[in-house]
Amino acid sequence: MEYYSSHINRLIEQLSHLPGIGAKSAQRLAFHILNMPADQVQQLTSAITGAKENVQYCKTCCTLTDQEECPICSNEKRDHATIMVVENTRDLAAYEKTGKFDGVYHVLHGAISPMLGIGPDDIRLKELMQRLQGDVKEVIIATNSSLEGETTAMYISKLIKPSGIKVSRIASGVPVGGDLEYIDEVTLLRALEGRVEL
Ligand code: ZN
Repeated sequence: MEYYSSHINRLIEQLSHLPGIGAKSAQRLAFHILNMPADQVQQLTSAITGAKENVQYCKTCCTLTDQEECPICSNEKRDHATIMVVENTRDLAAYEKTGKFDGVYHVLHGAISPMLGIGPDDIRLKELMQRLQGDVKEVIIATNSSLEGETTAMYISKLIKPSGIKVSRIASGVPVGGDLEYIDEVTLLRALEGRVEL
């Protein structure tokens, strides 16, 4: 027996596809949305479609941005010879919040995971290798310390080594399996400063 109207069920189903949202949370959110004033619902939906339509990958570092090139890549005051490699835009934001890194980034949008069938071609690795044709002094690998993050770090360092460019890995201190975005700024800075050459 169907408890709810088909429109409500559809809303619950769509919400339950979001990460971290189980069936119960999806129901709670659906009824919350239904109780919201119409103009607030309108603002929410237009924020979602607006973000989806206007956000693109930076042509240099692949982060998500409103412009063709993100504000960090187009900033001439940044050190463009030092590239920090992160798994996603949230990790970039975490390091940016420390305000202590003046290099630029490269966003992979994932990590290599043989178990999940994610290979080197499924992340933005080719784009990184292309950037290394330019004037690059150091690549700092700041992928997470999960199995996938470590696998990715090893793979990238092997790939870059022959080019003679310095490759370093942020220090542990970032807890094993810890997502960078949840780690406090002090720990992030310590990990960056204590990075070791691979
Ligand atoms: Zn960029």
